[in-house]
Amino acid sequence: MNKLDAALVASALQKSGFILTEHAREADVVLINTCSVRQHAEDRVLSHLGHLKHMKENRPELVVAVMGCMAQRLGTNLLSHEAVDIVAGPAQLPEIPRLIEQVLTQGTKTLAVTDKIRTITNPEQSEALDTFEYAYDSDVNHIPGQAFVRAMRGCNQFCSYCVVPYVRGPEVSRPPHAIIEQIKKLADQGVRQVTLLGQTINSYSYRDGDRQYGLANLLEMTSRIEGVEWIRFITSHPGHFDDAILHAMADLEKVCPYLHIPAQSGSDRILKAMNRGYTARQYLDLLIRARQIVPEIAIAGDFIVGFPGETEADFEATVYLVREARYKNCFVFKYSPRPGTRADSKLADTVQETVKKERNLRLLDVQNEINEIDNQQFVGQVIKVLVEGLSKKPHLNQANEGGMPQLIGRTATDFIVVFNGPESLAGQFANIHIEKAGALTLFGMLVE
Ligand code: SF4
Repeated sequence: MNKLDAALVASALQKSGFILTEHAREADVVLINTCSVRQHAEDRVLSHLGHLKHMKENRPELVVAVMGCMAQRLGTNLLSHEAVDIVAGPAQLPEIPRLIEQVLTQGTKTLAVTDKIRTITNPEQSEALDTFEYAYDSDVNHIPGQAFVRAMRGCNQFCSYCVVPYVRGPEVSRPPHAIIEQIKKLADQGVRQVTLLGQTINSYSYRDGDRQYGLANLLEMTSRIEGVEWIRFITSHPGHFDDAILHAMADLEKVCPYLHIPAQSGSDRILKAMNRGYTARQYLDLLIRARQIVPEIAIAGDFIVGFPGETEADFEATVYLVREARYKNCFVFKYSPRPGTRADSKLADTVQETVKKERNLRLLDVQNEINEIDNQQFVGQVIKVLVEGLSKKPHLNQANEGGMPQLIGRTATDFIVVFNGPESLAGQFANIHIEKAGALTLFGMLVE
């Protein structure tokens, strides 16, 4: 979501005449997009602002803007930082070019965040965001042939540890026709893979007159768009997961059989304290159903270790769940208390940092073991990938195919595949014969 926001704002600024530069020392304007999900992310922003403050001592005309979740969360407190000129929340992205111009011409600090974010849904703001999304490029990281498209904003789940509902506001699903028009435009520009985004994408819901649209409908409508060949959606919440989505994955050829569905814990006691709304058994049953309906599905999970009160037995329950789930991969995070959340105000952060770290590593080890075994099934197979471009780690594949560079691609099930081939393949589909499988990466050779 943050990558998409950054890409849209960068595109809007470029279209207003700004030029992107990689180095802050060359820039007239420095824009920092922020995340509030963990303290570490916010600490890094404060450290950048410290550097920028020194830079501004020599170049007082330098404009510094902070946008995104941390901007919405801290508002005026952040604006009082000596380095900061503009603070803009996630709903104010369309205003950023104008705010920068204003500071450049008038030199006054500006705050643009949403008041009473949980109680007021402003239709004009939603419309402005929709127009903004349509007008600018969402080609994140410039991966050829791929784009992210927001299907919904905000979240209504209120997981007790999470700050997102307080900084991105209530769930708002975008009109399906606006999403489809945007994807058609992207397809005309050569986009082959579209990823629909939402904090809880499976709760996408839009009423238009008598008609109710859910995610399954949106997938069906997207798959009718000529030029789009692969469709993904992230992230799903395990509560109220409609099987119609699984059937759409099974029936629609373009929908990738990949499901990112965070469990967060395998302990019912902890899941309850997290306000996740399901038990470990219900979660595992959902994975069983998903595999029955979409046999080739690859599933990824997220976990938080060291949640307040997490005992060794709770953690063992998480290890058990990971072993049962047989994920394609999982992301593990150490609990980080976030001000303003229920977990922070009601529960003491009891688990020691060393224990959090150790549980984090242990869980990743369990997942690694699973990958080492499960990924061997791909060796000898020919698999279709969408090529992203040059591999950032050219040492990974020892084979050197006729002096061709090492490329990276992803399968429909989101496995990373490294192989040698011409760089011109970026943005194209290619068939790769898999020769070796590591825990995180598959290695292969391009099939002519
Ligand atoms: S579903 Fe929970 S963890 Fe995800 S954004 Fe919403 S509140 Fe946060």
